[in-house]
Amino acid sequence: MFSNRASIPAALQSFKLEGRMLCYNSFVPKLYNWCLSLGFTPGKIMPSRAFCSDESQGFPIILLAKHFGAFPFNHGRVGGIVSVERHAPHADHGKDLVLLQASHVGYDPDTGEFGVYRRLHTEHGGNTCACGKIGRIVEQYAKDYTYACESVRLLRHEGQPAVLIDYLLIAHPQKQGLYLVAQNLVQDAERGLPRPLATRSTGYVYRAADSLVARLGEATWPETGSIAIGQHLSAEDFYFQREGSWPDPFQDQLEQNLLAPMPWILTSKHPLLTAACANTLAEFERTYRSLLQSPAMRGKNLVFVGGLNIDISPHLGDDFPLTKFVPWAAFVQYADGRQEILEQDDLYQCLSAMPRDNPAQIDLERSIAAMSAKEEVQVRI
Ligand SMILES: [Zn+2]
Repeated sequence: MFSNRASIPAALQSFKLEGRMLCYNSFVPKLYNWCLSLGFTPGKIMPSRAFCSDESQGFPIILLAKHFGAFPFNHGRVGGIVSVERHAPHADHGKDLVLLQASHVGYDPDTGEFGVYRRLHTEHGGNTCACGKIGRIVEQYAKDYTYACESVRLLRHEGQPAVLIDYLLIAHPQKQGLYLVAQNLVQDAERGLPRPLATRSTGYVYRAADSLVARLGEATWPETGSIAIGQHLSAEDFYFQREGSWPDPFQDQLEQNLLAPMPWILTSKHPLLTAACANTLAEFERTYRSLLQSPAMRGKNLVFVGGLNIDISPHLGDDFPLTKFVPWAAFVQYADGRQEILEQDDLYQCLSAMPRDNPAQIDLERSIAAMSAKEEVQVRI
């Protein structure tokens, strides 16, 4: 998905949010009715979800259970990673199959802030990071970005615009971290950094690239001393590399999904929102390919939908969040082997056109009451 660096900004922008949101209360019955319209058998559809482990994802799960009449199979790992090795057990548990993947991001409706969620059950009921797992990964990379913004400095050498670059950003003793795209900052650096104009105690001074001077304007350079490049260090000016792997391959998958788009995540208006979208884009493609390869899925009716859960923070007194779903894409496979992919606009229109009534939905309270009223079954050892 993100193998071609030049295409990453366009890929991220292609995930539209405005005008593409569905409240979960209407999304889930619409999803159910869409499955029926495709020929799925009522009462024989096994839903599955690949959500983060965050308790904020509980309300969508309850709605899936209510409308599909079965508690959804768990296909997900923290951060919204799909456990692609669970396709076979999922396929075993239903005649027809639905898999819903969603990365998630919290949203505070009072402040308009993304990436936070009110934890009503904590002592003071305050906001914490959501998705916390994605947040912790982004935070590590943000430190490197902040260091680079401060450690690439604009100054003049013999009156001409120059850049002072910290040795750590050139040498990379750890063989990983933030790497600068040198030719965007330094003149004549297409084939590696040229001979510096001067050596300072903690970095080299190079002639500033003509393109950088044109981009920032020569007046940005101070007459004396140096200033940090700061937010002028754009996503196109750097990238990350990471060596080795985590002991947990699913943590590795989340970080791998975010590694290439990380410069655009860090420089976006809402980094955790952009990160969640990037993860959904990567997970949809990876999961789609794994479904094609899975022998257990052959001959099955299957709908796989990928998207984003926006967890609207609950207010005091609310039981659940008003979660919204933004669909990204869907893969439909029919038992006779026909397959199709619905891109975002087609998928949104298709879901929107479905009725939101579902006479088959179960009354959870009544179901629970009926189970408690049943005669106790003795387990014979
Ligand atoms: Zn999460």
